[in-house]
Amino acid sequence: MKTTTSIDLLSEQGRQQFFASFDNVLTDCDGVLWMLNQVIHGAPDVMNGFKSNGKKVFYVTNNSTKTQTQLLEKFTNLGFKASKNDIISTSFLAAKYLKSNLDPSKKVYVIGSPAIASELNEVGVNHFGVGPDYLQSSVPTFVENVQLEENVGAVLVGFDEHFSYPKIFKAASYLKDQSCLFVATNTDESFPVSGTKIIMPGTGSLVCTVKTCAGREPYVVGKPYSYIRKVLMDTYNIDPTRTIMIGDRCNTDILLGKRCGFKTLLVLTGVNTFEEIDKWSKSDDPELQELVPDYYAKSIATLKATFPLPL
Ligand SMILES: [Mg+2]
Repeated sequence: MKTTTSIDLLSEQGRQQFFASFDNVLTDCDGVLWMLNQVIHGAPDVMNGFKSNGKKVFYVTNNSTKTQTQLLEKFTNLGFKASKNDIISTSFLAAKYLKSNLDPSKKVYVIGSPAIASELNEVGVNHFGVGPDYLQSSVPTFVENVQLEENVGAVLVGFDEHFSYPKIFKAASYLKDQSCLFVATNTDESFPVSGTKIIMPGTGSLVCTVKTCAGREPYVVGKPYSYIRKVLMDTYNIDPTRTIMIGDRCNTDILLGKRCGFKTLLVLTGVNTFEEIDKWSKSDDPELQELVPDYYAKSIATLKATFPLPL
């Protein structure tokens, strides 16, 4: 049995020990800090409070459709005192990964958003492919006339509202060369939406299509994969044992924390419920036990009570 501790039920001493047990706070955004554009009550106070109490704060999102600068605007508008370097998005991580791993004489074929293009431009990685590329003819005519570019060293797949047959065709064809890197921003199957009648396909559905066609597995930079740990350690010298990951979704946020050796905390304002983690904690399946957070709280606002001085 894997135990999980409620922050809401900690004693005074327990709260102090909890607060003193980490120096770095990583938090997911959607479902923890806000729902769509609606800020979760108390979230800015708590995150700003961590900062003013000397904790290093990082906002970690699998969103690949916004640049760090665009995300910063959202944080600022919602009342979070963030700086660009506090924000870790998958478009930023993918650009960083390709800057370090791609032969600089080669270029990247991108299935993704203009935000990915901006992040690649920022680090000086050559790329092409962003924007519409639809089938203008029958498939045989397309295949007969398609022009594949030379010198493609990587295929990067993120969220792309123009995802199409020609894009799948091109990505898989470039990936036929086994030396061509295959990178994905994240593998979230769908976007959270309210209501039960629709499913909104996420980046994972696009990645899966390319993966199936190419017969290759991508290197994924987003949660729950641990590339982020390397970036945080190399760039900011963080100690994983003094780091806590806060999230609302166990198979991305909590799993990332577990894989990286961070402490983990689930807030119950988003995807997963207490009933689920309670069930998993009693299960014999190690994969389900891995999803059980060290701590849980009704909301991020609850963490206010652990601060040494009232906010
Ligand atoms: Mg979330």
